[in-house]
Amino acid sequence: MEKSEIISLDRRHIWHPCTQEKDLEGFPPIPIVRGEGVRLYDADGNSYIDGVSSWWVNNLGHNNPRLNRALNNQAAKVAHHIFAGFTHEPAVTLASMLCRLAPGDLSKVFFTDNGSSAVEAALKMSFQYWQQSGRPDKTRFVSITEAYHGETVGALSVSGCDLYREIYSPILLEGFQAQGPDCYRCPYGLQRDSCNAECFEHLERVVSEHHQQIAGVIIEPLVQGAAGMRIYPPVYLKKLRELCDQVQVHYIADEIAVGFGRTGRMFANEHAGIAPDIMCLSKGITGGYMPLAVVLTSEKIYQGFYDDYQSLKAFLHSHSYSGNPLGCALAVEVLRIFEDEQILESLPPKMEQFDAWAQRFEALPHVGEFRRCGMVAAVEMVESKAGKIAYPWQQRRGYQVFQKALKRGALLRPLGNVVYFMPPLVIGQDDLEQLLETAYACIIEVTGQQ
Ligand code: PMP
Repeated sequence: MEKSEIISLDRRHIWHPCTQEKDLEGFPPIPIVRGEGVRLYDADGNSYIDGVSSWWVNNLGHNNPRLNRALNNQAAKVAHHIFAGFTHEPAVTLASMLCRLAPGDLSKVFFTDNGSSAVEAALKMSFQYWQQSGRPDKTRFVSITEAYHGETVGALSVSGCDLYREIYSPILLEGFQAQGPDCYRCPYGLQRDSCNAECFEHLERVVSEHHQQIAGVIIEPLVQGAAGMRIYPPVYLKKLRELCDQVQVHYIADEIAVGFGRTGRMFANEHAGIAPDIMCLSKGITGGYMPLAVVLTSEKIYQGFYDDYQSLKAFLHSHSYSGNPLGCALAVEVLRIFEDEQILESLPPKMEQFDAWAQRFEALPHVGEFRRCGMVAAVEMVESKAGKIAYPWQQRRGYQVFQKALKRGALLRPLGNVVYFMPPLVIGQDDLEQLLETAYACIIEVTGQQ
């Protein structure tokens, strides 16, 4: 199909995610024809370094030969079958590998098929556990400001990003929201590397006051992704774990974005040396090949559902694609690649490379902060550096950087005024340098030198 025909059919029939479709009048969607390593190629032969791992999923590069083989081998056996009353080797292999890698005593794996649905399952699991464990008043969840846990109604209910949530508030579940960390604009005037998460007092207050009604606290460990890659220290999570233990509240970790090596460790909670009661994983789990998600939990929570059928304690939650064999076979191969190719061990030089750019970015007159956690880095553009005053969102500075970067061969889809880097973990240092240079040049073009 000709490029023009693809675009014209797209405009006639397609409604893109998280997009004001009218924007596409002036900037039509780019037809991608193939991917290779860290690059995507369009119909005109232009290439783009995938600086955001295509929404944080493609951790091991596009067109990865090992993942291609795993997918093809599984497709030649069975692509999908019902997962109630049946099982298969890729699922059990994956589940055992995940339980071995996961922190703490997470030993049971429930399959769903995308991040939001994993969050829904986690919330329902926590709620139902308490219902069946003599604590029927525990019906609420706590989340923090600027949290993002997905777009379905339950997941939105525990989100704190007004941009995605506000209009739906009349149809959302009631819960508690606590002021979360904001290290760049720390109200305590502290630094994230040396503080003691003093800001935890907000969450502590909410949980301590209402714990009789609280089933769980859900949080994105270390990095609040959609909020603009807000990074906070592990001590916050340590305090949360202690608090949850004290008052019998589940700690639900949403590692959907940060799991699978993104923070430099396999799972972000490892930085805090703690384990959640329930952990949601998705995105990088299949290396960006297939939609798959899992909810890991402990034997204790699992046992809260285990009884004769007539007790009606079962977790009657299902998705048609639960335990999809293609996704599971890919996820097994992803974990083998992590081991064989020493993916985590390969990251430190690239993290240092990010850090080497920190000063250059922060010297720009309209860059408020350059922050990094593992292989996530972000540049926050500000109107006034002294006052840490954000550019009005209507100016769409980040979007302008995105458009300019595409012309220079980089995909850097921003979050408001934040330009971030979340490249495939396998990115080479030359490509990473090119990505950083492109962002730097585009940020100067968009924000000026003064
Ligand atoms: N939780 C977090 C932390 C996420 O970053 C996302 C996706 N950006 C989700 C949940 C939702 O995942 P999905 O888009 O697969 O529904």
